[in-house]
Amino acid sequence: MSVIMKCFFKYMPMIFLLNLFSACNTKNSGSAPSMTTDLPSTTAPAPASPLTKEQEMAALIQEFKTTYSASFTFLTDFKPAIYMNSGGGSTTTVGVCEVYSDGSKQVHFNQEWWPTAASLAKKILVFHELGHCFFNRAHDTRLYSGARPYSIMYPNIDPVVTYFDSYTNYYITELQNPIALNTIQYPITFSTTADGLCSEN
Ligand SMILES: [Zn+2]
Repeated sequence: MSVIMKCFFKYMPMIFLLNLFSACNTKNSGSAPSMTTDLPSTTAPAPASPLTKEQEMAALIQEFKTTYSASFTFLTDFKPAIYMNSGGGSTTTVGVCEVYSDGSKQVHFNQEWWPTAASLAKKILVFHELGHCFFNRAHDTRLYSGARPYSIMYPNIDPVVTYFDSYTNYYITELQNPIALNTIQYPITFSTTADGLCSEN
């Protein structure tokens, strides 16, 4: 493919806005002095078509599979917010892992939330839901001092997002190999109170 054609495809989204040769000027290299023209600014165009949300999700699921040499075929898809929030509660549900009595599983992500979220939050969410559905992990509510979660399985992904870049290897390893309770914390008392909540002390 010629340079002209490569350039044409690279800048295809721009051709209706900019003169082709102003965006794709491969003929004027060399002796041309600085030009003054009426052409629009030729600042770099926005990156060509960003990934769709389906492509982003597929890439993150593939990253999970590669990271953990994991293999699974259960459904992963997007659902509208009205489906995601049908379980009740006042906060928006952004991801779910559903496990059915026959052992089948499905993972859904909130299609309205997804385009508004930071890329790292989306990665942590995908790994969290697959932590449930692939590694069969429950939530881990423990925190280190400074409020750093023990696990991606903390029931709120926001603090995990905060600490993930500084503790990437820790979190990736922990998801596959949950950290046991530290013996320093013994004795451990699980107390169920009259309101039905069970807490660990
Ligand atoms: Zn969860």
